[in-house]
Amino acid sequence: MRYAEVIVDLSAEAVDRRFTYAIPEGMDLSPGMLVTVPFGPRTLDGFVIRLTDQCGLDPAKIKPVLRAARQEPVILPDLMALADWMHRRYLCNLVDALRLMIPAEMRGGRVREKTLRYAHLKLSPEEIPGFIEKNTRAKKQIEIVRRLTEGDIETPRLDAGPLKALVDKGIVEIVAHEARRTPLALADDARTADPVLMPGQARAVERLTAALSTGGRFLLHGVTGSGKTEVYIRLIREALRQGKTAVVLVPEIALTPQMVSWLHARFGADAAVLHSALSAGERFDEWRRIRSGAARVVIGARSAIFAPLRNIGCIIVDEEHESSYQSDRRPRYDARQIAWRRAADHNAVLVLGSATPSIDTYMRAMPGVRPENKLELIELRQRVKNRPLPEVELVDMRGEFERGNSSIFSGRLAQSLRECLDGGHQAMLFINRRGHSSFVSCRKCGYVVKCDQCDVSMTYHRAGEALRCHYCGRTMPPPKTCPSCGSVYIKYFGAGTQKVQEEVARLFPDARVARMDIDTTQGKDAHQRILDAFRRGDTNVLVGTQMIAKGLDFPNVTLVGVVAADMTLNLPDYRSVERTFQLITQVAGRAGRADVPGRVVVQTYDPEHYGIACAAAQDYRAFYTREAASRRLALYPPYTVLARVVFASREAQTARKAAREAEDALRRYLVETGQEAEALQCRACEAPIAFLRGEHRWQLFVKLYFKADVEAVTRRMEQIAEAAPEGTRGELEVNPVNMI
Ligand code: ADP
Ligand code: ZN
Ligand code: ZN
Repeated sequence: MRYAEVIVDLSAEAVDRRFTYAIPEGMDLSPGMLVTVPFGPRTLDGFVIRLTDQCGLDPAKIKPVLRAARQEPVILPDLMALADWMHRRYLCNLVDALRLMIPAEMRGGRVREKTLRYAHLKLSPEEIPGFIEKNTRAKKQIEIVRRLTEGDIETPRLDAGPLKALVDKGIVEIVAHEARRTPLALADDARTADPVLMPGQARAVERLTAALSTGGRFLLHGVTGSGKTEVYIRLIREALRQGKTAVVLVPEIALTPQMVSWLHARFGADAAVLHSALSAGERFDEWRRIRSGAARVVIGARSAIFAPLRNIGCIIVDEEHESSYQSDRRPRYDARQIAWRRAADHNAVLVLGSATPSIDTYMRAMPGVRPENKLELIELRQRVKNRPLPEVELVDMRGEFERGNSSIFSGRLAQSLRECLDGGHQAMLFINRRGHSSFVSCRKCGYVVKCDQCDVSMTYHRAGEALRCHYCGRTMPPPKTCPSCGSVYIKYFGAGTQKVQEEVARLFPDARVARMDIDTTQGKDAHQRILDAFRRGDTNVLVGTQMIAKGLDFPNVTLVGVVAADMTLNLPDYRSVERTFQLITQVAGRAGRADVPGRVVVQTYDPEHYGIACAAAQDYRAFYTREAASRRLALYPPYTVLARVVFASREAQTARKAAREAEDALRRYLVETGQEAEALQCRACEAPIAFLRGEHRWQLFVKLYFKADVEAVTRRMEQIAEAAPEGTRGELEVNPVNMI
């Protein structure tokens, strides 16, 4: 008897182990296959992990595998090993990792190949008159036969009764063709010509393609507009020529439509896209094209790193600094880390690309890094066609206020916008907050309207005349009088995208303003519509949040305005300066990408701050040097590791008690394992947002030196999180994207 060890598709720690099933006579199984098995009173999907002849249990008690979903493994061997590694590294159940590797709808058989059925005429043209003669009364059958002489027709488009009669007579047969559901963006198959590479691009391509035979890890640091995409394309093409495959990760497909269309234009049907906005059928079909080897270039957001490709030649992570590569759900994986590992498994070339690499990544490209962590640095210092980088002007808003200008636009920005519009060009205005006003406060007593479910101030949205909480989504009407002192002096402070849009419309009646933020991009294809209208020139001013900062390439944009550069600078997060620098540099990079030079106006109350000054100078190296020194001094990552367990509860007492007990437990563990000295901090404290979605939040916050056994300590923290007392939820986060 043969047995299969199966992980069932149920995410619970209690079933996070292999169950043994008998393989019925005649069923051909192999590891990685998706099967259906009986499990207690139910039937469940499961993944075959291993086959064996041995079984330690009473064979009579062993149940059989019921069926296999497909006749081939859905998880390739290297992905199986990867899932196992994730299970240990990210402390998730094995099935949580396996689930990432197939389209969600395949589990439970919720999606299948779509087959279309066609009617096909078996008569030759010479036989048709004879048929008509013999069947003069069957008008409908004759009609069908006539239509089918032109070619096969889908069965639903024909009359069912007469069709059946024809099939019964053996005159028509039904044939099934598999249909491929194609993501719309990829529907046309037009290939474009190659531009001539710039010398810097050519050198980069040469270095990267040379590494295809050995594997290698690279940081491609290219200023905005240096043509990184073209470098990726040449590398991919060479990989394909060598019979290998390629993965391109982008932060968010909806925000980088150009990358998809560029790659598609160059690789045609060789390219597949994987992302969450596809329909279930599209995702399934794209996945199968990859699995079968028909598609050899995969473009997608972070989960595309799990695409079932064989013989990977290169993995490219574009805009590697983006936080969306880190999953905010279990398993909390980092796609860059997975890319690193998969590239090593395949001896592939890993390319992390950015104009503003994360501090962590850049540090690995500096001298003195251990070989296993090392990235080779490739720089593109010139924009394509030697276009100049845009000129960035800092405007000190304190001076504006002193001169009596209390508007959200400085004189300089207003004037630049006037000139831009008069010249027939386009502008992008960036502000990192959606809504109209960031908070509502009483002039008399200082009361600030806060969400009653969260400890955050409510944002005023003009659309719908409501105050909205950006954390839990709760809304309320704006108060007419102060809820605290009853005064009528309610004021709205701080600008958001709506206010900026309104101000542009008021000051520049001839401007055609569009707004792009979470609120305007809810519908399917909403992103695309806003960006297309802007590209066509139907709109000429685009106001937006960080959504407009990424990778966009609009030739006619000559002005970029950063309305409030300091907004992200003072957030309670050690990466706030890095984020600010990245945002300003990236938005600035949207200007002057064609032949008209660009201008950037950055409004700030803190022009001397190195995060802002270095971004204005577009000097990454200077910024890196300052920021790395400050991280080292303050003992922040990448010099240390931050981890925390957040305890959330309806009762503040309960959350606090859980955090305090967790602190005691972890301290005992650190003492027992002799690691007290490696823990710089280990303390229970309130989370920065102490009240969220109606729950009180306390945390066990830990800062570790690298000398500590980080994996062991975090594993202990995970156990502590899972043992959270009744009435609390504990959640472990290691170097989280957000420390709220
Ligand atoms: P980056 O990602 O480095 O900001 P992109 O890859 O978006 O830059 O390229 C900017 C623009 O330059 C794109 O429109 C691209 O098609 C074009 N481009 C890239 N390389 C060349 C080249 N060698 N010659 C002309 N145009 C190029
Ligand atoms: Zn008041
Ligand atoms: Zn709220």
